[in-house]
Amino acid sequence: MAIETTRAVHGTRSRYVNGPCHCDRCRSANADYQVGARLERRLRLLAGLASPTHGKHSTYVNWGCHCPACTKANSEASHPRGTGPVCDG
Ligand SMILES: [Zn+2]
Ligand SMILES: [Zn+2]
Repeated sequence: MAIETTRAVHGTRSRYVNGPCHCDRCRSANADYQVGARLERRLRLLAGLASPTHGKHSTYVNWGCHCPACTKANSEASHPRGTGPVCDG
């Protein structure tokens, strides 16, 4: 019996992942999923049900963790050079 995942209709995340199809409808379905997954992770983090590795840019982004370690990792990822003070002018 073949698994018919590739016949999933457009506008679904499974089509985006397994298709793979990156048309507008599938992309937006995937984006919706990502937003939901991120929110769920954030809630689990806030509820103390999850313990992601802190001090990582991905934890800041994916878990919405703004602890000092993750915030620092995020700012370093945004400014990878880390060459010290930079003139704003
Ligand atoms: Zn599609
Ligand atoms: Zn953190």
